[in-house]
Amino acid sequence: MKRATGMLILTAAVVVTVVAYNSWLYCWGRCTLENLTRLSLPGGLLLAGNGLALGVLIFLKLTPVRRPLLPHCRCGALIEDEWRFCGHCGADLEKP
Ligand SMILES: [Zn+2]
Repeated sequence: MKRATGMLILTAAVVVTVVAYNSWLYCWGRCTLENLTRLSLPGGLLLAGNGLALGVLIFLKLTPVRRPLLPHCRCGALIEDEWRFCGHCGADLEKP
């Protein structure tokens, strides 16, 4: 929850900076209102990149975490890779 708040504040700061920069340019006559509504090539690429990143983020958040298949003894107990025998049932785990 705390990270989400931080992200929200960061996003708000970026938006405020962009708006402030654009209105500053507008006030100084460097661009017209038409420039602000039209996306330039770098701006469009940036927006597309952000959209792509957002899509990947949502995809990763929605995809369930796949746990790697852990080795199990035939008795069902979890075993470590270096174990020579099962600590639960005592079965020999020596690999050939
Ligand atoms: Zn076992």
